[in-house]
Amino acid sequence: MVERIPVAVMGATGLVGQRFVQLLADHPWFEIVALTASDKSAGKPYREAVHWVLGGDIPGQVADLRVEKTRPWTVEDAMIVFVALPSSVAPTVEPALAETGKIVVSNASSMRLEQDVPLINPEVNPDHLILLEEQRKRRSWQGAILKVPNCSTAILTLTLKPVDDKYGIREIHAVTMQAVSGAGYNGVPSYQILDNIVPYIPREEEKIRNETRKILGKPGRTGITPHPARIHATTTRAPVTDGHLEVLHVKLEEPPTTLKEIIKTLENYTGKPQQLQLPTAPPKPIIVARENNRPQPRLDRMNGNGMSVTTGRIRLQEDTLQLVTLGHNTIRGAAGTGILIAELYLKTTGQK
Ligand code: NAP
Repeated sequence: MVERIPVAVMGATGLVGQRFVQLLADHPWFEIVALTASDKSAGKPYREAVHWVLGGDIPGQVADLRVEKTRPWTVEDAMIVFVALPSSVAPTVEPALAETGKIVVSNASSMRLEQDVPLINPEVNPDHLILLEEQRKRRSWQGAILKVPNCSTAILTLTLKPVDDKYGIREIHAVTMQAVSGAGYNGVPSYQILDNIVPYIPREEEKIRNETRKILGKPGRTGITPHPARIHATTTRAPVTDGHLEVLHVKLEEPPTTLKEIIKTLENYTGKPQQLQLPTAPPKPIIVARENNRPQPRLDRMNGNGMSVTTGRIRLQEDTLQLVTLGHNTIRGAAGTGILIAELYLKTTGQK
């Protein structure tokens, strides 16, 4: 029998934590050995501690696993720790975990912009893993901290990476319509969001601006030189359960002459995860929808098992590319990308 790598999920009862549990349950490389949550959930079996929202049954392997407190020592049997904690809580455990040799793959926004912390969208910037050398040198950690991008940023950067490679991006205007699951289990009161759109999501617009420039930036040994594009974002919350839709207007340095060429560039794009045939890599990271009324959250969010973005309404007006793109916020925007980062790390360090 193949020996699996022991992993833990911190914040396992939340919306992102549940996705981790679901995606890890039948993973060919990983085995869940510990789950943590807040002190109020600790001590209960997972099936009692969680309000399971994903449909189907709670995976049998973990349904009766006891939920632990979120402390560095409660996950000591794990080699990799997937973190789905609030960003106010993550800094209390992540550095201690890295110090004791754990590979921490985290969705919390804390530390995402630090110079020696890789912020990875695996098809977009796998070369940013080089920052781990500097991180280990500077912090003397046995382990490491790797960060998953903000959900809207993960969808945006995957969509625009091939466009930037081929035509160069000067400026991005983004308007998002984001699902309620993006705010977490207790995030948006139903009375605020039903029959409504809320035109502001705290701190989201600066995350899109800063993280996009880092992810599309050039890596050096000691940090990233951010991409020079000007980025403008307006983020809104929409009454959709899962799936963030983004309307993008992108000014190009060297626009192509035909729309056909752009469509080919998008749908033929593959990255290192596809070349390495990583288990969570979708065969086609970008799917182009031809119909004028697509992409739609309900119809397209599970494309590529939730790991592909779906892009449509592609138009070219002089030097400006216009399109609508969609991705699953708790899969491509969180847990799925976290697992893909761990796979990429293990493969590129020769541990798999
Ligand atoms: P959530 O549904 O609110 O879940 C939060 C998790 O953290 C729960 O397991 C909760 O446990 C635990 N927790 C809360 N306070 C804690 C404390 N003081 N000590 C220990 N554990 C605590 O949130 P989420 O949507 O899954 O988001 C998790 C993280 O991922 C956040 O940093 C978020 O910004 C980020 N993120 C979310 C998305 C998304 O689409 N939702 C996308 C990208 C990134 P209890 O159940 O016991 O309270």
